[in-house]
Amino acid sequence: MKRDPVKLGPGDLVREEILSLQPYHVAPATGMIKLDAMENPYRLPEPLRVELGRLVSSLPINRYPDPAAPELAARLRSTFGIAEEFGLLIGNGSDEIIQIVAHALARPGAVLLAPEPSFAMYRMNAVIARLRYVGVPLNADFTLDPARFLDAIAEHRPAVVFLAYPNNPTGNLFPQAAVEAILAAAPGLVVLDEAYHVFAGRTFMDRLGEYPNLMVMRTVSKLGLAGVRLGYAAARAQWIRELDKVRPPYNVSVLAQAAAERLLAHIDVLHGQAERIKAGRAAMFDGLAGIPSVEAFPSDANFVLVRVRDAAAVDARLRARNILVRNFHGSHPLLANCLRLTVGTPGENELLLAALAESA
Ligand SMILES: *Cc1c(COP(=O)(O)O)cnc(C)c1O
Repeated sequence: MKRDPVKLGPGDLVREEILSLQPYHVAPATGMIKLDAMENPYRLPEPLRVELGRLVSSLPINRYPDPAAPELAARLRSTFGIAEEFGLLIGNGSDEIIQIVAHALARPGAVLLAPEPSFAMYRMNAVIARLRYVGVPLNADFTLDPARFLDAIAEHRPAVVFLAYPNNPTGNLFPQAAVEAILAAAPGLVVLDEAYHVFAGRTFMDRLGEYPNLMVMRTVSKLGLAGVRLGYAAARAQWIRELDKVRPPYNVSVLAQAAAERLLAHIDVLHGQAERIKAGRAAMFDGLAGIPSVEAFPSDANFVLVRVRDAAAVDARLRARNILVRNFHGSHPLLANCLRLTVGTPGENELLLAALAESA
């Protein structure tokens, strides 16, 4: 007689550390003023949308994409000044590049080190790839303590350091000299995550030649193409050659490759939108300065981190007015009562400021 084998469920089979992971949080946003995810609030101008529509209709979507994405790669190089001597890795968002780096470097005992608080996906990918994660706390005002960070590097000898430049969710840009000291001291790869470079106007992309262990990673998401899902990273060719083996060959779709290539040919449009967002950020700081119960931290990105008296209560009152921001209270001790406000259109920013003035 056949016996039914005992069935094991996810609770038995999924790795312990995955079972205890918190899923990456995305709030339902239908009908909301969406100021929670650092999206560009501006849509493409009509003629560009029409051009994109024509392009999409011409694409051979019965075929797999070219894994080397030659047209897109050439466009990325010319638009962002990436010399041919450096390797270029393309990802389905820079989230995938973080994942690729973590998997490639996950030798037994290897460490992924990052400041805290920072982008949640660094730790998440370390856990998933089985790297040991080391978080080095920032100061209470979110500035980096270089001595503390360098000590942690000396102690843990990380295979990879992730530094968001500017940092998310705090918004600040760590001093250039501190980044240089980290690059000089780190024994392994240093990934400088420049997701917000258009709003910061600072970059290490032109310094790849100086540092054999530097990888500069960026995304087109915050630039206005979050729905396309495209990230890219540049480093010495030897690094990219190895990392590219971990990349799924068809990771960036025919649609994403073609759309990004075409829209980056109109980078002036996206840069124009970024300038409007920067003006909105300045107006947001002015408005926040007039609300005594709100403390705003400096930002070089397209969002502003603020501290209020009771983040959960303010978050709830904003939601009641259909305004979605991101509440970081409880995610890290340094982020007590902190909300992250994405800069939207001037109208959205006004509504947010008015709601905060009444709620905070
Ligand atoms: C938004 C963000 C990313 C993710 O970008 P995608 O390309 O959309 O995956 C990476 N790093 C930081 C610091 C971010 O804030």
